[in-house]
Amino acid sequence: ATGDHVPALVIGSGYGGAVAALRLTRAGIDTHVVEMGQSWTTPGSDGLIFNSMLKPDGRSFWFRTKTDQPVGYFSGGSVNKSIASYAGVLDSEAFAATRVYQGRGVGGGSLVNGGMAVTPKRSYFEEVLPSVNSDEMYGTYFPRANAALGVNAIDPAWFESTEWYKFARVGRQTANDSGFATTFVPNVYDFAYMKQEAAGQVRKSALAQEVIYGNNAGKRSLDKTYLAAAAATGRLSISPLHTVTAVAPAAGGGYTVEMTQIDTAGAVVARKTVTADRVFFAAGSVGTSKLLVAMKATGRLPDLGDEVGAGWGNNGNVMVGRANHMWDPTGGNQSCIPALGIDDWADAAGPVFAEIAPFPAGTELWISLYLAITKNPNRARFVFDAGTGKVGLNWQAGWTQPSIDAAKRVFDAINKKEGTIYRTDLFGVYKTWGDDFVYHPLGGCVLGRATDGYGRLPGHPGLYVVDGSLVPGSIGVNPFVTITALAERNMAKIIATDL
Ligand code: FAD
Repeated sequence: ATGDHVPALVIGSGYGGAVAALRLTRAGIDTHVVEMGQSWTTPGSDGLIFNSMLKPDGRSFWFRTKTDQPVGYFSGGSVNKSIASYAGVLDSEAFAATRVYQGRGVGGGSLVNGGMAVTPKRSYFEEVLPSVNSDEMYGTYFPRANAALGVNAIDPAWFESTEWYKFARVGRQTANDSGFATTFVPNVYDFAYMKQEAAGQVRKSALAQEVIYGNNAGKRSLDKTYLAAAAATGRLSISPLHTVTAVAPAAGGGYTVEMTQIDTAGAVVARKTVTADRVFFAAGSVGTSKLLVAMKATGRLPDLGDEVGAGWGNNGNVMVGRANHMWDPTGGNQSCIPALGIDDWADAAGPVFAEIAPFPAGTELWISLYLAITKNPNRARFVFDAGTGKVGLNWQAGWTQPSIDAAKRVFDAINKKEGTIYRTDLFGVYKTWGDDFVYHPLGGCVLGRATDGYGRLPGHPGLYVVDGSLVPGSIGVNPFVTITALAERNMAKIIATDL
């Protein structure tokens, strides 16, 4: 309520926020998390909390009247459907030349993501974040993050035999035919549960087209791991459906935090102002960057530097589909949880790490879908528009081309070898590349540039950044393990020295 005072306030409940919440509460500090999305604990009229990908409704999207599926087209038309506007779980946030998909709810991106839990290649981590001691990261913080996230590996024998991963085996075979290596990718989805799904012993989730609009079972999302552990200390409180709109120094020390509470229909219920001794920005690459850029531009946090808002990248994301031959079916039954990646990162002329993604339509389509992570050098900046009071992102449409060029080195080769072609109907009408959206926003408040070496915001003691905005635009693999491990490292330092 307005006037309340808390020792520590965390903005956002994704990976960075969940780590901050656990480490602060374990250190004996009462911690309040403010999250703009819902707490996803109450089932809808169908008895389910989340929707399958095949049956979206209001729960699927953050205030949209029409779905905006990443693979939004098929056979010459849009496959998007009308839905009720509601505080749904997946946001597709539109900027001038890209849409950024993000999770909305207690658990942030962990509610909607594919769960791929990949520790980056050490050499690339060192290239991207040279100021961070990699012995400490690979010796202590990556293992700590993997353990706390509940990362597990698929049983290889089951992978080889189950119909649910035929799509991945076909993706592997066609990659291997062209000389590309594949690798198993760990996940936070409980593979033992998935085996029981396949055996018909439990309710199907990953095997029932559940993932980007949430999983009703099987997935170790943050509400079940870090946030549950933080709650168990008795020192955690969470305000869902509260959006932080301003942070500024308070007269008597600490910071005032202004927030707006909405209901699930989007109507404003209340505006509140509280004070906090310390504020942890964990609103994600986009959320944290937008907030800080606006606070700097409006003079509320005047001492923030020019690096705030800079260094944003899309982790080189680009999506593409291939049409397999009729004799290479990918399976009508596909697990929604990816298990394999094509690893061609060693190609200096165009490094690629490509997730072999499911295309779970419930029917045979002979499609191989890939989310390629590439080394795209382009970086954008978040910019405050004084006219509208909004923060934009100056990413340009052509800036995805280096990612397409790199991905073509892999998928042109596969198509040539197999005598196959790209699907041109999945991302538009005659549009081969899914290059106008991103799953992996990174940067905007880069470690060691906009912050000090541990995420402290210079000039404003007690303000910290702990999320994906610290990572400078690229990490070469799916990013949440890195975001979690970096937050673990920074929180360990902050708790030891500042609190
Ligand atoms: P987030 O997890 O985005 O958390 C930020 C939170 O802050 C959100 O809950 C948001 O609602 C809240 N927030 C924002 N602004 C405010 C505000 N002003 N006030 C209050 N709250 C606010 N990564 C992987 O590693 N593996 C994968 O398999 C994978 N698959 C993905 C699939 C999809 C469809 C998507 C969208 C992403 C995927 N990702 C994956 C990316 C991964 O989910 C993100 O990198 C990760 O969630 C970022 O963590 P974060 O802590 O920086 O922010």
